Amino acid sequence: MVTNIPVLNLVDQYKEVQSVLEQNVLNVLRSGHYILGEYGTRLENEVAAICDAKYGIGVANGTDALVLAMMALDISAGDEVITTPFTFAATVEAILLRGGKPVFVDIDPVTFNIDVTKIEAAITPKTKVLLPVHLYGMPCNMPAIMEIAKKHNLRVVEDNAQGIGATVAGKPTGSYGDLACISFYPTKNLGAAGDAGMVVANDEALAKRVKTIRAHGSVERYYHDELGVNSRLDEIQAAVLMSKVSFLKKWNDRRNQIATLYNECLKDCPNVQTPYIPTAESGVTHVWHQYTIRVAHGRQHLIDSLKKRGIGSMCYYPVPLHTQKAFDLGYKLGDFPLAEKAAAEVLSLPMYPELTDSQAMTVARAVQEVMLEVTTVSPVATPVVTNK
Ligand SMILES: *Cc1c(COP(=O)(O)O)cnc(C)c1O
Repeated sequence: MVTNIPVLNLVDQYKEVQSVLEQNVLNVLRSGHYILGEYGTRLENEVAAICDAKYGIGVANGTDALVLAMMALDISAGDEVITTPFTFAATVEAILLRGGKPVFVDIDPVTFNIDVTKIEAAITPKTKVLLPVHLYGMPCNMPAIMEIAKKHNLRVVEDNAQGIGATVAGKPTGSYGDLACISFYPTKNLGAAGDAGMVVANDEALAKRVKTIRAHGSVERYYHDELGVNSRLDEIQAAVLMSKVSFLKKWNDRRNQIATLYNECLKDCPNVQTPYIPTAESGVTHVWHQYTIRVAHGRQHLIDSLKKRGIGSMCYYPVPLHTQKAFDLGYKLGDFPLAEKAAAEVLSLPMYPELTDSQAMTVARAVQEVMLEVTTVSPVATPVVTNK
């Protein structure tokens, strides 16, 4: 039976907020104030509060948030920034664009996040910053990371593009690092109708620097104190986001319900490893930006078969960053075996708050049926892919 369940559906969410969103946008259009206005300031306060951070600085997108964080921390040639090879390219671009050197640490295969037990071995006298990424909405072990940072006198920047609203040790992501970077790319848990991002800060001096850098390095217009960029938050996007921000908690809770349902339906599925769900007592909440299974054999067949049935799925990310052509870091295939294995096995299933239980069950049933086929017919191990 052919159904139609895309991997992502932004239209249904739009309908839920449509009237307020459209009114907000109209207000901006009629106000004549299009960049860094009232909605922007309100959004900065709301998002800082969600992250339990002191300051929010709206910027043009999540990648810029990372670049501005690196600039505010004076990352320059020779400085080393420790991060994960299993993330979106932007994490590493931000380091390289400042002349810094990304130093990778392999992942924890259960959480897909940087393995905190391997961080200390990667620290050198040149290390300046730890840059953990809360991948798929699963928070990194921030208490452990902050302890390492303190011991070695390092700064911490959280890549919180996928983790807004998540908590670890009872505290939200974004409340731990010196800075945290958020993306409001339309597909993110809190998504704009275009590009937008934010840096949240717990350090006043750093917050001021980010704010200065986003506006050409000037506090007073036409007086430039340092080299900056143009990366301001668009007021229309802020108005869109303000119509959605109060729904974030509800939407994240719904994502968690869907993840729990998927895990339940797929627990006996052959050849599929379901993602780790933190227990209620652990103080960790996952916000399920993606629901990601591991398929060690027959991943491509599963993707193709789901597609034939009208079900979307996606590999985030098929190529680990240490094997990308774009980044010449001196690493080779084999350097981070757990990230490589994850890249070869991961598959994200449809995940958005508007997905119904019955749709999630349809997806899970389809995965079951296909994987039974794969197990009996042709268990093909997924090859590790590189882009070199
Ligand atoms: C989306 C994302 C970014 C970049 O955000 P943009 O708003 O698309 O520039 C950075 N890091 C991670 C982990 C992301 O998922």
